[in-house]
Amino acid sequence: MKRVLITGAAGFLGSHLCDRFIKGGFYVIGMDNLLTGSLSNIEHLFALEQFEFHHHDITTFIHVSGELDYILHFASPASPIDYLKMPIETMKVGALGTHNLLGLAKAKKARILVASTSEVYGDPEQHPQKESYEGNVNPIGPRGVYDEAKRFLEAITMAYHNFHQIETRIVRIFNTYGPRMRVDDGRVIPAFFSQAIRGEEITVFGDGSQTRSFCYVDDLIEGIYNLLMSDYHLPVNIGNPTEITIKDFANEVIEMVGNSESKLVEKPLPTDDPKRRRPDVSLAKEILNWNPKVSREEGMQRTFEYFKTVVK
Ligand code: UDP
Repeated sequence: MKRVLITGAAGFLGSHLCDRFIKGGFYVIGMDNLLTGSLSNIEHLFALEQFEFHHHDITTFIHVSGELDYILHFASPASPIDYLKMPIETMKVGALGTHNLLGLAKAKKARILVASTSEVYGDPEQHPQKESYEGNVNPIGPRGVYDEAKRFLEAITMAYHNFHQIETRIVRIFNTYGPRMRVDDGRVIPAFFSQAIRGEEITVFGDGSQTRSFCYVDDLIEGIYNLLMSDYHLPVNIGNPTEITIKDFANEVIEMVGNSESKLVEKPLPTDDPKRRRPDVSLAKEILNWNPKVSREEGMQRTFEYFKTVVK
């Protein structure tokens, strides 16, 4: 049985990755310090023989006994309000945590895939964004702690690949949604769903003309799996290129939830909020034979079913 270490295992993406690798017949070692993750996302795995959990902060030395074939690095605060609350932790996990995991990959001769982000493009001046675009990041703004940590993560991963010849993979993840997003993480989908379900005002930041392109979690997980198993070591965008303005998206959520109490209200646009974001996924199509399959309507319906059970 191949053995895989997944960091951030109790988080939104990490927990879905645990499920995917368990289903694929792997032995999964989940690791999380539970800063933003929740054990409720993986409690269904605790009884399984091919799963173990380590409550550990990867910014300190990481010990895993036995062999490791793969490492997937998905530990990090991942929403703008989390970076504001935990800027130092965000930088440390992207920098020190990544360094420790690369050292572990080298020691175990494991292949490592690291989670990077569309935030490496900052507020992009190229649209849609291709992997070759070098980005427009403000290093000292409130999002800089995340963006620069992830840029460092890419740089040190390439350094380990080039200098130590370890097998590395880098995925640049665009906005992703689905069950197990944290209700209070401040991101647009949990915010809009919880507000609409409670009949509260829907908080559109700015005039809502900024765009995002939302990928359903199952599509993202398949893309990550394909990338890990590929032989391509340079960064690859994974996301859904269907773009929508935040205002139109708010209206879609209101219509889906069907709570007539909810009205749109404008709030100040956060500093450095990207104006447009859409992945160019032609590289993923070409080298991974990957395409997002779940439409926004279908994915949002499944996500609504989840939020109905967790929003109080
Ligand atoms: N947003 C919003 N209302 C909210 C939360 C977010 O209008 O209550 C906007 C936010 O300003 C951004 C977009 O929705 O333009 C996506 O925000 P999110 O925090 O989900 O992720 P980002 O793509 O900015 O990292």
